[in-house]
Amino acid sequence: MSSDHVDVLIVGAGLSGIGAAHHLQHRCPGKSYAILEARDAIGGTWDLFRYPGIRSDSDMFTLGYSFRPWTAAKSIADGPSILEYVRDAARDGDIERHIRFHHRVIEASWSSADARWTVTAERTDTGADTDDSGTGETVTLTANFLFGCTGYYRYDAGYMPDFPNVDDYAGTLVHPQHWPDDLDHTNKKIVVIGSGATAVTLVPALAQDGAAHVTMLQRSPTYIMTLPGEDPIAKVIRRALPEKAAYAVVRWKNVAMQGVFFQLSRRAPRLIRRVVAATVKRQLPDDVPLDPHFTPTYDPWDQRVCLVPDGDLFTALRERKASIVTDRIATFTRDGLRLESGHELQADIVISATGLRLQALGGIGFSVDGRAIDLASTVGYKGMMFSGIPNLAIALGYTNASWTLKCDLTCEYVCRLLNHMDFHGYRRVLPRELPPGEGTRPLIDLQSGYVTRAVASFPKQGNRAPWRLYQNYARDIMMLRRGPLEDEGIEFSRDASAPGSSAAAEPVAA
Ligand SMILES: Cc1cc2nc3c(=O)[nH]c(=O)nc-3n(C[C@H](O)[C@H](O)[C@H](O)COP(=O)(O)OP(=O)(O)OC[C@H]3O[C@@H](n4cnc5c(N)ncnc54)[C@H](O)[C@@H]3O)c2cc1C
Repeated sequence: MSSDHVDVLIVGAGLSGIGAAHHLQHRCPGKSYAILEARDAIGGTWDLFRYPGIRSDSDMFTLGYSFRPWTAAKSIADGPSILEYVRDAARDGDIERHIRFHHRVIEASWSSADARWTVTAERTDTGADTDDSGTGETVTLTANFLFGCTGYYRYDAGYMPDFPNVDDYAGTLVHPQHWPDDLDHTNKKIVVIGSGATAVTLVPALAQDGAAHVTMLQRSPTYIMTLPGEDPIAKVIRRALPEKAAYAVVRWKNVAMQGVFFQLSRRAPRLIRRVVAATVKRQLPDDVPLDPHFTPTYDPWDQRVCLVPDGDLFTALRERKASIVTDRIATFTRDGLRLESGHELQADIVISATGLRLQALGGIGFSVDGRAIDLASTVGYKGMMFSGIPNLAIALGYTNASWTLKCDLTCEYVCRLLNHMDFHGYRRVLPRELPPGEGTRPLIDLQSGYVTRAVASFPKQGNRAPWRLYQNYARDIMMLRRGPLEDEGIEFSRDASAPGSSAAAEPVAA
């Protein structure tokens, strides 16, 4: 066992954790901090996912940090470039030395008497834990404030449905979250199951990279929009302005465009349906009908809209290197899949691009003064803190725009909060319970299967500020960068053991 104390403990060294460390160093220079990271690498998502073609599905001018211009030509960037960008930010910001790799946080207990968290992390590189399953040596740290930058899904396994008779299949079945290094797809017949961002990325990438043929098999279609891989307006702005100024201008341009598209989708869904359908139809070959393959039953932004750079998916369809089937799987067979229509698909490789398994706060077990916290019974405060849990914030990005836009603002807010507490001598900040009688709604507001499967285990949100999580960057700037820190939803105290509202549910099992 080893022990340590820091002012702020960041959990996770992905895009958000490195951003959090940067903001902390600049805005709260006196604070000590450490980052605990379960894996052996910086980058989170952008290090984990290694499937062919992996890329962002939002533009890098808004997925990049506010403090570090994205300088590459492509605005929809490939995974390795994003990983390099995050690593460079960590190296240039002198953040790496604060990271303790192979530390998976499993428990965090708040003590009001001490006004601090005691955090237990499992070493994932020592003892019996050779398979990264988390049974190694434990390490204990204490911290005044905990900042969860753990992402929103499980790293150990993606979501794989119970496919009927999958054991009969003689080919290779792969989940994109666990892409085998040695998988050779050259001249292979491939079926990609799914219609989300991963499927629409994989299909053209495999098709252009030597596969014999790629079939995208979807149960139901998704809204797909084509975007230029290289933004022509950004190109002009970048030629005209110095790097930093150009980045800021392009970022705002993209924020505005995303915002307008989202608002129009919510207010005039029929119009947006028609516009999206017309642009897709123009790019399809004559024998691929819009209906049923590109006519979702839901409205745009009920689920995330997929972006395809330079229409690469449609190019693969036109070149006959890929095809699309909208049907349901009846059963796996020895050579592939039989569909409910009776149609058979032969496949050397089947890729189950069926999504993520969501997880709140990295699976950490929380307790407050010896009582276990049921996260599902807590209510979010400003989309980043939770009722009854003191001195804790999380970095949770937007679902309708780039993740980092929100995380940058969250980091700024947390730093303001910490400085405010220091100035007034406060030791505890505690989000209050929602006033009695006020309703709640799910914290993540998408209807996608991967969200609906897990959202019940997540904290909730209220129906109004400050308990509502607004998916609106301009509004969040006003609230998080400029708004008051003290309001009806939160209480500060110098005496951390003073009574406050609590979401504690049951005593922690011994
Ligand atoms: C394939 C894919 C593509 C995406 N593309 C986009 C996009 O284009 N635009 C967009 O806005 N969003 C996108 N997202 C969402 C994406 O996850 C975020 O943009 C962003 O990368 C999240 O960064 P993060 O640091 O918050 O989380 P993550 O990248 O998930 O990193 C979390 C880190 O925390 C660590 N961790 C978790 N739990 C613990 C624990 N208990 N103890 C210690 N360490 C822990 C993990 O090991 C990981 O390193 C995409 C997601 C996926 C899966």
